[in-house]
Amino acid sequence: GPNIDPAEYPLAMTPNDPGFHDLSGIKGGPRVNATFVTLARNSDVWEIAKSIRQVEDRFNRRYNYDWVFLNDQPFDDTFKKVTTSLCSGKTHYGLIAEEHWGFPDFIDQEKAKKVREDMHERKIIYGDSISYRHMCRFESGFFFRQPLMMNYEYYWRVEPSVELFCDIHYDPFRFMHENGKKYSFVLSLYEYIETIPTLWDSVTKFMKNHPEHIAEDNSMGFLSDDGGKTYNKCHFWSNFEIGSLSWLRSKAYIDYFESLDRDGGFFYERWGDAPVHSIAAALMLPKDQIHFFNDIAYYHVPFTHCPTGEKLRMDLKCHCDPKNNFDWKGYSCTSRYFEVNGKEKPEGWQDQTD
Ligand code: GDP
Ligand code: MN
Repeated sequence: GPNIDPAEYPLAMTPNDPGFHDLSGIKGGPRVNATFVTLARNSDVWEIAKSIRQVEDRFNRRYNYDWVFLNDQPFDDTFKKVTTSLCSGKTHYGLIAEEHWGFPDFIDQEKAKKVREDMHERKIIYGDSISYRHMCRFESGFFFRQPLMMNYEYYWRVEPSVELFCDIHYDPFRFMHENGKKYSFVLSLYEYIETIPTLWDSVTKFMKNHPEHIAEDNSMGFLSDDGGKTYNKCHFWSNFEIGSLSWLRSKAYIDYFESLDRDGGFFYERWGDAPVHSIAAALMLPKDQIHFFNDIAYYHVPFTHCPTGEKLRMDLKCHCDPKNNFDWKGYSCTSRYFEVNGKEKPEGWQDQTD
């Protein structure tokens, strides 16, 4: 990364710093090598427009980070025109290679088709969809090695129709870089078991074959209540991610992805990229390389992360209703994350449990 003089550019502004309460005209500090990344269809243009506008207003207008857009179809002129006009940094548009968006040759098409029909009968969300499976496999194993992404070290994933509710008074990319963080999240929850019945079997096999990739100080306690025998379904929600591309491109992660991919669960079940990324991070990264961004307020249907702590919400000019904060509710795994990490929950968490 670049040479940063911390005296000249404090990582995070505090409410006492001049400019904190009126960020207009305030430039961010020096950038690290990072980009926003969005996978989208042409038809998503107005929904991604809303997301971009909020990311720019709350953060990127002061930093002007690049934005990479990826699609399995060529982007049309409207998509490119609208998104380029909204983004303050450079925009890049990539077409996904066929081998990154399709069935690998070892998949039994008949078996995969039967699974889709069966999941359709059982009304499992996206259970009958081929494209959703390609999307999940692409996000699990390929987005970070797409040629346009090879130029960057960190990424921030942004989906259509998401919201950001608070100002961001520092550079989260630089925070990741300076603190050695490799993966981060704002929301966590339990996965729908019908979509991943044998995922943990595959993970267990990978751990046996590749003990060298398992971190000593890992977060197994986040994933399992019985020391690794069974998966408790906890995962970080991957529609928001700020993470290290170098980590995803590491031998450890690639060995992991290839091992899971061979087992076929992206097609014989409906494995999501959220549990796939989360399990990787929890097992292959030391605990202190995973970060929870309490101060990044976020919504993706149907869950909200609204920062705990009234003073923080006022300082950051948040417009989310704290009652909607999902963190401390029963279906969230964030409490468990705090316990596993021996972290103290932010003041006021008890007021947001239901
Ligand atoms: P959900 O959040 O799990 O309900 O899934 P989404 O419909 O939001 O899809 C996740 C991400 O993948 C979003 O950024 C979508 O725009 C994108 N996406 C989903 N399906 C496709 C597809 O078939 N083609 C492309 N190019 N993008 C897709
Ligand atoms: Mn989505």
